[in-house]
Amino acid sequence: MAKSDTKIDRSVVPASEGRAYRVQKGSRIRVETPHGAQAADFFAFNAENVGEWLSANHTWVTTFNVKPREGDTLISQFRRPMLTFTDDGASGVHDMMIAACDQFRYEFFGHEGHHPSCAENLHLAMRRIGQPINSVPQPINFFTNTRIEEDGSFVSPPNPVSPGSYVELEALMDLICVVSSCPFDLVVDGWPINAEGGPSALLVSVS
Ligand SMILES: [Zn+2]
Repeated sequence: MAKSDTKIDRSVVPASEGRAYRVQKGSRIRVETPHGAQAADFFAFNAENVGEWLSANHTWVTTFNVKPREGDTLISQFRRPMLTFTDDGASGVHDMMIAACDQFRYEFFGHEGHHPSCAENLHLAMRRIGQPINSVPQPINFFTNTRIEEDGSFVSPPNPVSPGSYVELEALMDLICVVSSCPFDLVVDGWPINAEGGPSALLVSVS
């Protein structure tokens, strides 16, 4: 996954799986949902210290918006700039509020036995590149439709993201980024996180 100086590295994140990418300072990472409406949980770590990570809630208290917007600077929990959101090809349909799904969320909804999750995908992807972590930071959930109502209630209307939608971000420090194709496939009233028909693959390129 190391960045090449001469070509763009492209990769498929299979449905319900996760992958880690090294993104050098000044490089860009692009995430696309070719089938549309596939939630992409996005995490980023300082490549030199994985104890520093992209923090959604430190970001939104700085940008004064609970959604990431084109042009925003996304920061770490130490309030250092990590990424610029350079290109939003998904019309702002993103979320910074929903915690990564994990085994216990699926059990909460009545699932029995193991279920893949974004938390597990994150840990596997980081172990695969020799950078194990114990935490699960709040991800930025690209291509995820949520809204906060005037009374403070939090809703997730059907996902309207069209096929081929994408986001692109520029690294402001050397990073390890993880992209998870959210495996959420349960039929739960009010939580249509992914498209009908279940999780689908994502495309990631680093240039
Ligand atoms: Zn998930």
